[in-house]
Formats: sequence, C-alpha cells, structure tokens
Amino acid sequence: MAEDYPREAALRPAKGCFIDNRWQPSASGRSLPVVAPAEGVIFAEIAQGNAADIDRAVAAARAAFEGGAWSRLTATERGRLLMRLSQLVLDNAEELAAIEARDCGKPMRAARADIQATARYFEFYGGAADKFHGEQIPFMNGYYVTGEREPLGVTGHVIPWNYPAQMTGRTLGPALAMGNATVLKPAEDACLTVLRIAELAAEAGLPEGAVNVVPGLGHEAGAALAEHPGIDFISFTGSPQVGTLIQTAAARNHIGCVLELGGKSPQILFEDADLDAAVPVVVAAIVQNAGQTCSAGARVLVQRSIWEKATARIAERFSTLKAGLPADDPDLGPIINARQKARVEGFISRAKAEGVPVIAEAGLHENAPAGGFYVPPVIFGPVPRDNVLALDEVFGPVLAAIPFEDEADALALANGTDYGLIAGVWTRDNGRAIRMARRLRVGQVYVNAYGAGGGIELPFGGVKKSGHGREKGMEALHEFSALKTIVIKHD
Ligand code: NAD
Repeated sequence: MAEDYPREAALRPAKGCFIDNRWQPSASGRSLPVVAPAEGVIFAEIAQGNAADIDRAVAAARAAFEGGAWSRLTATERGRLLMRLSQLVLDNAEELAAIEARDCGKPMRAARADIQATARYFEFYGGAADKFHGEQIPFMNGYYVTGEREPLGVTGHVIPWNYPAQMTGRTLGPALAMGNATVLKPAEDACLTVLRIAELAAEAGLPEGAVNVVPGLGHEAGAALAEHPGIDFISFTGSPQVGTLIQTAAARNHIGCVLELGGKSPQILFEDADLDAAVPVVVAAIVQNAGQTCSAGARVLVQRSIWEKATARIAERFSTLKAGLPADDPDLGPIINARQKARVEGFISRAKAEGVPVIAEAGLHENAPAGGFYVPPVIFGPVPRDNVLALDEVFGPVLAAIPFEDEADALALANGTDYGLIAGVWTRDNGRAIRMARRLRVGQVYVNAYGAGGGIELPFGGVKKSGHGREKGMEALHEFSALKTIVIKHD
C-alpha cells in the first residue's frame, strides 16, 4: 500500500476537486497519498473524490452546457480559448514537466516532450474548432436539408496514469473544441499535471463548468462518473477489464463511449529491412515510458533468414540501456507502482521458469534508488507462439522476439492476438508494404517507421480487444459530436 512508503517533509497538499473553476474540498474530506515511482517516497496528496463530488461536477458541467457562458461561445471563441490554454501550457512547460517526471517517474526529456505534445493538442483542436463543417444534403424538390455537427453535451473522461498530461490534451481538446462540457477523472497513481492543467484552463478564460476534474479512486469516483445518468458520452483509456465496466455502464445509460484498451503491437522485420533504421526504433518503441504505452512495440517479428543478425543488433542496443531517476537522463524510468512492478516481474520470472531464452537484459543506472519501482528491460526469443509473452500485454519493458517464415506467416502472427492497436512493417518492397498494411487488423500501420504515442494529427484507436472509436486528428471531432439533420420545406 502507498501508505507504507516514507513521506517527504514538504508534502504537496491535496487541493481538492476542481469544479466550476475553483478548488472545492472533496465530500469525503479524505486524501490519497501520491508516490514518486522513481524513489518510492510519498511526495504529494490528492483529494479522494467520490460519487458526491462527481454529482457536483456533472451538475456544473450541465449548467455550463445548458445556458451557461460556455454554451454561448462561438466555435471561433472556443478555439481561441484552447489556443490560449495551449500557450499557457507552453509558458508553464518546465513546471509541468518537472511535476510529470516526479509523478510518473519518466525521464525529464520524455516529460518535456509530453508537455509539448499536450500544448500541441490544445493548439490543434483550437485551430480545428471552427473548421469542422456540417454538410448540405441534396433531397427532394422543395426541401433544403443540412447536417449540422453539434456537441454531445456533458462528456466524461477517465484517463490513465501513463501519460496524464498528454491524455488530458488528447481527450479534452476535441471535446471542448466541439462545445461539450467536461468532467475528468484522472488516475489516482499520477494526476498532478491534470489538476494543474485544469487551473490553467480557468486562467485561459474557459468559463465555469467547462472543465471539471475529480481526482480519486477508480472504483469510487471513476465508477460514479461512468455510471452517472447525467453524462452523454464517456471516453476511457486503460485496462480491458475496466473498459468492460465502462462500456457496461454506458450501455445502461444508452450513451456512446470510446475505449482505448492497449495492445500487443508488432514490429515486423522482413529480410530486406534497413536494420540501421529499424533497430533503434524497435528498441525505443518498447523502452519508451518503460513499456507502459498502449501502443508499445511489444513484439518484434523477424524473418527467419535474418533472425541471428537482427536479434544480435537489437541485443547489442538492449544491453546498454539503463533505468534510472528522471534527472539522470536515463533511457527509461521505473514502473508506475509496486503492484504493476510485481505484475511485470511475474511475466519475466514465469517466462524464465518456462525456459524461454533471454536474448539480452539491461541494467540500472548507478543512482537508481533502491526504493524505486525499476524493472530493467529484457528481450526474450524465440518466444513460442502460444506463450503468454507472445499474446498478453505486459505493460513493461519486455520485448518478445518471434521468428516467421514468409509474408503469410508474418500476417498470421501479427494478427494472432486478441489486440489490434498499431503495427510497424519494415521492408524495402513497396508492394509488400501495401499488402501488409491493408491486411493488418489494427488501427494504425507504420511502414519503415513507428509512432508509439506520437502524431496528434493522426487518428488513433484500436480494433478487436484494443477497443473502438478514434481519438486524435480530425476524426476525434466526429467522436465528440453528433450529426443533426435539419429538413426545411420551402415553396
Ligand atoms: P485501470 O484500467 O484500472 O485504470 C485506468 C483508469 O481507470 C484510472 O483512472 C482508474 O482510476 C480508472 N478506473 C479503475 N477502475 C475503475 C472503475 N471500476 N470504473 C471507472 N474507472 C475506473 O488500469 P491500471 O490498473 O492502472 O493498470 C492495469 C493495466 O491496464 C496495465 O497493466 C495495462 O495493461 C492497462 N493500462 C493500459 C493503458 C493504456 O494506455 N491503454 C493505460 C494504463 C493501464
């Protein structure tokens, strides 16, 4: 339990729930400890919001949406506010990056990149707000018909701990651009930047009730939001198990949801791949955020004819990697908490016990504190195709290498898990690249590249158990709006 960790003297106190542009004490009066995963110390507290706080937040959002100042803004005005928020995120980038690095344990370099991406989300959707047009529909003589895009109403957003700031930009950006009023339940493990961004949104001039944040536990505040009859849509990123609960709650209220539930994304190395280009990307795609990325490149599928050469090159790079403190510019940071660390270590020890060969293992930076939740990266291979490492999401820096024979075999292997989020294809043969891209059952395909987490402009989401719906890009504006058909009879 988090309560067991040492507490810093200068603990950042809980500020409460951010509702109607101000801090309000949580109904429970309780707070939750926040542990710095790189050090294993409690450095902050957040309010333990519950169903009563969610009620207040939903009511605030409803008032904003129905007749409040927020509802009266034009699309251009909403866009300008989002642009202003983007600029405030940039103006406070160093502070936000430092908080994110401490809260998640990620290297400062990565935290800085996350904050830039967060600002870019608000900028992108600020710019898009008044450029997402409806349509005019040809119909019978004497009729004038339009399809207008309108907001859904009050949108709920349950976000995970792996990229708190970025996920806030990703989900709030399009929701606000379309004119929805929002209630966010960030993850109890890491949410301090989310709370700070809510303050910045108020500073940017977003009217009361447009952005409300209730921190707290998943089964309390999260479940209360998902089940609330006052919300019109819910966006969720996290585990498949909780995704099922969210979708069930949405079904009970007959509302829509977008679910992003992770993956087991493959990088496919054909024998004609440019290994100089591929190897650094293959390694970075599993090491990024210590493997705690839904689109991590968790499998590397290697054509048998280049198995030795390719795995040796990956191993060489792997063995130099170091996990450590954010400030020491390590290749990766720790796992988010002790429970997740034990889960990742469980995958590693089971695979070793089953005799799955280890190709290479990395180490720890000399300054990495003993109390931090570090798991050094490891690559296993050849991993048997029916082994859990070949099929299940580890959500840690564990790469499964698997050989394949030919294109058909690569495709069967790539599509052979329950997931379907993204894939990378490395080949110099354009015909093969296009054939593979068309047949891979995923939401995004990269050819001779890989973009775990990147590309704000690029629609993103899964098929199969990776979820459904799309965020990012202009596509997210469809997700957070409804089309209304207006039929006018004229003489
Ligand atoms: P989780 O799904 O439990 O948590 C994600 C979010 O959902 C958090 O905000 C949490 O508070 C909330 N939540 C939890 N229970 C809820 C409930 N009953 N109702 C509503 N909201 C609820 O994820 P976790 O336990 O922190 O991590 C477990 C696994 O989830 C990981 O190992 C990984 O496989 C997966 N995961 C995926 C992503 C992703 O980006 N796809 C992110 C985080 C975790």
